[in-house]
Amino acid sequence: MGSVSLPDVNAARDRIVGRIVPTQMVLSRSLSDAMGVPVHLKLEHRQTTGSFKLRGASNAVAMLKLAEKARGVVAASTGNHGRALAHAAKLEGLRAVICMSRLVPANKLEEIRRLGAEVLIVGNSQDDAQEEVDRLVAEEGLTMVPPFDHPGVIAGQGTLGLEMLEDVPDAGTILVPLSGGGLAAGIAAAAKATKPEIKVVGVSMARGAAMKASLDAGRPVSVEEVPTLADSLGGGIGLDNRLTFSMCRDLLDDVVLLSEEEIAAGILHAYGQEREVVEGAGAVAIGALLSGKVRPVGPTVLLLSGRNIDMVRHRAIVCAQPVEGTTK
Ligand SMILES: *Cc1c(COP(=O)(O)O)cnc(C)c1O
Repeated sequence: MGSVSLPDVNAARDRIVGRIVPTQMVLSRSLSDAMGVPVHLKLEHRQTTGSFKLRGASNAVAMLKLAEKARGVVAASTGNHGRALAHAAKLEGLRAVICMSRLVPANKLEEIRRLGAEVLIVGNSQDDAQEEVDRLVAEEGLTMVPPFDHPGVIAGQGTLGLEMLEDVPDAGTILVPLSGGGLAAGIAAAAKATKPEIKVVGVSMARGAAMKASLDAGRPVSVEEVPTLADSLGGGIGLDNRLTFSMCRDLLDDVVLLSEEEIAAGILHAYGQEREVVEGAGAVAIGALLSGKVRPVGPTVLLLSGRNIDMVRHRAIVCAQPVEGTTK
């Protein structure tokens, strides 16, 4: 089984410098007061393209051989990875094709086109889109850049672990959103190589947490995909998972699951107390702390991973409840 380690992450960092922005770390006064330990927020939702996915995509693109660059890249993601890959490819002047099913909303399609990628609409499901990706790889020689189970992608996401420990060297706990596990695996590999005693905890939604179900089963399993506020955390880990399953199994100290209400509370807290707009997936670390499901050990770093939320939905969430601390 392969893995990604600190030298890969250091190399990723050198490759993506200038292609991503090093995002800010801020102290949350309200969460620090509530938890009795310093709680720091890594504001990665402010990354270019609105999520950390640009780190992994940029690293994977920069690692391509010249002949591969000449032919271009392809992916089936319609979410933050598709957006990030389109942006990373454009910056390098490469062809990028994003395959999506007919069910993807028009605004997502427009956003990816605006970033210069070719959008191919195929079939009625993610599986149909993936078949088209496989065809383009076989027939046109495009290189598939997957959203998480890829050494270059994991190493790119791991650069967040380096930045976190530089900004908060005394960190004892890191809370990371968890879906396919590229983000958590990369951060845990980087952080634990630097500081073995640090705790890294993954946070998923209770509805359809494929990595958690797989870790419990001891092998990759599929779970039913259901709608959730944390839409960027949906989807499986791949039954033929090569890297992220074993890395998460070996490196994560715990995985906690949140209800939809707990995710909404994270979005609301980010907005009302921290003045940050984050999507559901980006708010789960805050939600986990507020829920009491995680006991933070020492100074704690929460990763805010993305901000690509439909603003009508965001407004509904933040208007549905009184802002914390003003009325109860
Ligand atoms: C993709 C994504 C995640 C989860 O990352 P994985 O590497 O799949 O675990 C978390 N938050 C946001 C905003 C994402 O786009």
